[in-house]
Amino acid sequence: MLPPGVWIKCATCGNETYRSAGVVVRALGRPLTDHTAAMVPQAIGCLECGSHEVSVFVAPQKSKIVVAGKSRRCRVCDGFISERFRRSFPKAHFCSLCVSEGRVADEDVVAAFGEAAPGQAYRTMASVFWGDKAQQLHWLRKAAKTGNANALYRLAGILTESNDPADLAECFSAYSRAAMATASKELEFKVCYAEHAVAVRLLWGRGCTRDVGRAIEMMRSAGAKGATRAMRGLGRLFLDGKLVERNLDESYACYRKAYDLSPDDFGDSAAIAFFLLLGIGTEPDEAEGVKVLGHSISKYAAMHDDVWGQRPRFDQDGCLREILVACRVAEGRSAMLPLARRYLHWMAYLRVPQADHLLDRCGGPLPPYQPRWELRLSRCPPEKVKADTWWVQSPVPRSASLTMLGQVEQLPNRVWIATTDAGVPVGETFGSMKDAVVALAAAVGCYVPYVDPLAKRLKRRGMDAPP
Ligand SMILES: [Zn+2]
Ligand SMILES: [Zn+2]
Repeated sequence: MLPPGVWIKCATCGNETYRSAGVVVRALGRPLTDHTAAMVPQAIGCLECGSHEVSVFVAPQKSKIVVAGKSRRCRVCDGFISERFRRSFPKAHFCSLCVSEGRVADEDVVAAFGEAAPGQAYRTMASVFWGDKAQQLHWLRKAAKTGNANALYRLAGILTESNDPADLAECFSAYSRAAMATASKELEFKVCYAEHAVAVRLLWGRGCTRDVGRAIEMMRSAGAKGATRAMRGLGRLFLDGKLVERNLDESYACYRKAYDLSPDDFGDSAAIAFFLLLGIGTEPDEAEGVKVLGHSISKYAAMHDDVWGQRPRFDQDGCLREILVACRVAEGRSAMLPLARRYLHWMAYLRVPQADHLLDRCGGPLPPYQPRWELRLSRCPPEKVKADTWWVQSPVPRSASLTMLGQVEQLPNRVWIATTDAGVPVGETFGSMKDAVVALAAAVGCYVPYVDPLAKRLKRRGMDAPP
């Protein structure tokens, strides 16, 4: 995501100014990142005395990028080496921009890391470029070649998003190799998660040949090592009876295992409660079922009250009573049970067994959430900085919950400029905020209407309806 802007502090005259991202990307001729911010001293410098001896901090956290008189210069391009980059590569005599342009040899990357393990150096380089998928893949692949298990796991994680058969095959192979790692603290992931990921791929033949038998074996193995998701998945397989023969006892046993591993998970405890209350895969046990259900509802209520803040607290006893009523409503009938409906809607969303049947008896799923219908503007510069700069956000996620479109701002000469979230300037200048916002949205392919603040106020008073 594009940072809001930078602070430039002059070592010569002491002047400190804030410059928005929109202005900086136009001066640099490239997007503003923790890496390119190191170019600010040369490209912009002090706006008061013109000196290039300046320190640079990136907003909003005032994260240190260049310290005047202290920051080292890159031996390759002579630009400053970002202080943030130096934190990961303390001995670097090259900058991260030269790394991303392929101008630094692998041996130098390893040497600058300060440890002998090349895999770890490459993996760290991948994390330096978070948000830059191409660079991440490049360095994770290098690290994966050395057998670094953490890199294999993260590489696979990035590749799961792809639909390319070659990527899926690479993803499967990376997860398989990560699953063979011996557990250790440095891995930063649990081997059983990798094992579960392999099992899911085998189950559906994603990037590999389908092998249901082997998938089930691996899910059991992952579950035995503590992967609750594996046990849950296995329980669902035996309940659905699509890929394997239906086996309710086995399904209950798997969910029971997941519940034993995470008794505070409201989904896992709800599953056990419904099995016990409805007598599926086990003898009915109302007393135990009510106890476990009460625990699940209390965990759900804690989340509900947290999300909704000051709203009336979720009525746990009422919800429990309503679910017990729902258990007795005949199949195909429904009753007014609003609390149970709200709780079960969530449980059905989490694919808790029987939650969907019970939900049908309470009136079915809740109506879908209606997003706000207009582009949302929010003030962008850090506190105390007086600037007319705004984030522009879409109510509709474009790709993977990405709602940020970019920034628009009014320059001192009253014209407006727009910059995408990727740090690319849109057009030249605009005469009004509206024109800038509309051009920005069109530039990133978003067609949500813009409503100026006056019309929004009218709408709130009920004087105008949304289109
Ligand atoms: Zn100055
Ligand atoms: Zn350089």
